[in-house]
Amino acid sequence: MDKLAGNFNSQNPTDVEFHASEIFSRRAAPWRGMATGDARGVLKSVLGIAHASYASACCFACAIEKSSLRPDQDCVALAFEDICQRFDLFLARKSREGDRERGLIILDRSTEETSIQRLSRDFRRLGTQWGAVRHLADTPLFIDSKASRLVQMADHIAYAVFRRYNEGDAQYFDVIAHRFDETDGRIHGLSHRHSAPQTCTCPACLSRRFTRFGSQQD
Ligand SMILES: [Zn+2]
Repeated sequence: MDKLAGNFNSQNPTDVEFHASEIFSRRAAPWRGMATGDARGVLKSVLGIAHASYASACCFACAIEKSSLRPDQDCVALAFEDICQRFDLFLARKSREGDRERGLIILDRSTEETSIQRLSRDFRRLGTQWGAVRHLADTPLFIDSKASRLVQMADHIAYAVFRRYNEGDAQYFDVIAHRFDETDGRIHGLSHRHSAPQTCTCPACLSRRFTRFGSQQD
């Protein structure tokens, strides 16, 4: 990503922050004034790094349709819980395979989402209720996205999932679609929570309907 950033600021590549919605809307430097096709190419180039990464690299995401929730449900809290559980299940599977590793959850410090901050503060208690802290080394850590290419990558993956589910625009999602955690064709790393899972043709819903074995959960 630093090498890619050098195309936009050869003197100080580290000054270039890849923030997907800013690149897409071309509203801030160095993306301001860029042709639409070029900006979309930047998003795909960033995702292309995940596409071509180590075989062990994998993604997790959760798409929730707000209209399917009860009034007392918070979609950010549900998504956070969902991803923490899926990550913990991934580490549990690795452990059964003899690869005993602990996980870390790293969040973008600039998030103003109060529910994320509250959940992180109470993570030890809440995570235990969710059954999702057995394989995690510590409570979630916050980091400045400017200083972390990994957080910037996560932002692009989240944006690709958002475009796929909210706008029906799969051109970014398709770059990383094969990167979600899966075993034997069943996708564990991507979940879609909505009111019509029996008719949805997204990879997450299809995978759950058409794989009968190897289930980790739901
Ligand atoms: Zn779906």
